[in-house]
Amino acid sequence: MPRIVLLGPPGSGKGTQATAIARALGIPHLSTGDMLRAAAKAGTPLGLEADRYMRAGELVPDRVVLGLLADELHRPGGGNGFLLDGFPRTVPQAEALGRLVRIDRVLSFELPEERLVDRLTGRRSCPVCGSVYNLTTQPPKDPARCDRDGTPLVQRADDRPEAVRTRLAVYDAQTRPLLEYYRARGLLTRVDAQGSVAEVGARIANALRDVPRG
Ligand code: AMP
Repeated sequence: MPRIVLLGPPGSGKGTQATAIARALGIPHLSTGDMLRAAAKAGTPLGLEADRYMRAGELVPDRVVLGLLADELHRPGGGNGFLLDGFPRTVPQAEALGRLVRIDRVLSFELPEERLVDRLTGRRSCPVCGSVYNLTTQPPKDPARCDRDGTPLVQRADDRPEAVRTRLAVYDAQTRPLLEYYRARGLLTRVDAQGSVAEVGARIANALRDVPRG
């Protein structure tokens, strides 16, 4: 089963596409952001520590994220194919990942910086069913409520403008160097992340057509 990494700035649509790709390839979607938010919601000591960094838009310390991810990969069958979304975010994380498993392909989502802020600050989600909307690009019928179950929509704490600026700066300083890291290893494929969810999805399917499936 393929082992794929999605790279891209916050707001580039990784999470949205990840769900569809993982379903199409029959591999688990591993999002360290989702794992950290779940730990914070559950109120575990690790989750509460992580929450402080996440709210500010800063990276959670490597030891916390690596601990969570290693638990996932060490489950029975855990390392046999996956789609990693939001990990690695630093070169030390990429090196640690490389010691745990072999990676088949890294997709880089490319989007002009000015589009990212709008996408992030316009994002709303349903706290009950997890549906994600965007007030400009994918608006719900009623701007305040979920189309599926009518629940009032919420904004992620780190999608507020101040945290968004920090997240974009953190991406440039700490995560962007991974593009060169994976390019040099022959693993990087760049994907134009502009356009509709379906258009980007079609480009991704094309980029993954020769990825090993067995
Ligand atoms: P995401 O849902 O991927 O946008 O992640 C939300 C937040 O979780 C980030 O802004 C970080 O605070 C934290 N986070 C997620 N993945 C990582 C990671 N690989 N390393 C450090 N922090 C992370």
